[in-house]
Amino acid sequence: MILGTAGIVFWGHSGKIVAAIGLVIGLIAMLGSLAVYFWAGILSTSAVQLECPECHKLTKMLGKTDRCMFCRTILTLDPEQANITADELEANQSATLH
Ligand SMILES: [Zn+2]
Repeated sequence: MILGTAGIVFWGHSGKIVAAIGLVIGLIAMLGSLAVYFWAGILSTSAVQLECPECHKLTKMLGKTDRCMFCRTILTLDPEQANITADELEANQSATLH
């Protein structure tokens, strides 16, 4: 009986540990998704608004290179890539993607 009670206490205790671990994992997962949302928020607010040199409409840029929303011209903030043609940039991007 003493052993049985000890077993219940032991399992009850480890059950609490399992519950605590589950709680911590859930908390971490929640914080992780929160961080992703926060990061996405920062990314979308860091979008640069500029006037497209081709069609002179206001477009948004995400990251260093992006396409114009209206005429699909590739725009870049990177001066090293600004001198090459769209075809070369396309080749570079597909080379890094695949
Ligand atoms: Zn444009």
